[in-house]
Amino acid sequence: MSSKKVAIITGASSGIGQATAKELASKDITVMLAARREERLKELKNEIEQMGGTAYYHVTDVTNVEEMEQLAKKTVEEAGRIDVLVNNAGLMPLSLINKRKIKEWDQMVDVNIKGVLYGISAVLPYMEDQKSGHIINISSVAGHKVMPGSSVYSGTKYAVRAITEGLRQEMNASYNIRTTIICPGAVATELTETITDEDILAAFKDRDMKPLDSENIAKAISYAVEQPDHVDVNEIIVRPTQQD
Ligand code: NDP
Repeated sequence: MSSKKVAIITGASSGIGQATAKELASKDITVMLAARREERLKELKNEIEQMGGTAYYHVTDVTNVEEMEQLAKKTVEEAGRIDVLVNNAGLMPLSLINKRKIKEWDQMVDVNIKGVLYGISAVLPYMEDQKSGHIINISSVAGHKVMPGSSVYSGTKYAVRAITEGLRQEMNASYNIRTTIICPGAVATELTETITDEDILAAFKDRDMKPLDSENIAKAISYAVEQPDHVDVNEIIVRPTQQD
């Protein structure tokens, strides 16, 4: 078994997760790719291996606690340990509350909050045994401010920040576990495809700003990972220059 660091990345089949997997692999970190779309994970694993990196994948729905536990178990079986978990999977079906898109609220709570908690729960026993680890949770600028249409999404991303800060206070001293909150502004990814509200989608498309690329966020994540063990980068906010 090699001594390379090992990172699990959820939502690795597109956008920020995919770019993060490539970035970490390029820094000689072994990556375990997780998401639901197997074809995309397979392609990314091949791409990383062609770059000279080491990648595994495990088809995982983050809303299923057993699948998340299986993901952690498989990572340890394949790669020997878990140094980093990037809880990145998420969706953003924005809408006004009085549109009453209750199914979408449930999905956001399930993926953006419960998925993060299940990820933490799955890796903590291993990190506690190791007395080291790093949990990186992807919140958002929407985890710092609310706009009409973002109430529920923002609620999930505020929750991610609260959970991460609580986890830090509980696990830093005794278990040497680091936590990082990453808050991206607008990034050009497939995330807007989760918006079903036509007015909100149109307003999004009308925004006159150059968005970030996924690679910009991947580099912020990689910066936090690369710090020495006694340095915990607690939170990073990255906005497009033109974003409010
Ligand atoms: P994408 O839509 O490109 O990627 C979302 C990823 O989440 C996909 O890989 C998808 O994989 C995965 N996913 C969704 N549901 C599940 C599930 N139930 N189980 C496992 N994986 C799931 O979006 P981004 O890359 O933009 O988003 C990544 C994170 O960044 C999200 O948490 C998002 O909220 C956050 N963010 C994004 C911003 C942006 O402007 N893009 C701004 C601020 C924060 P699959 O469908 O294969 O399962």
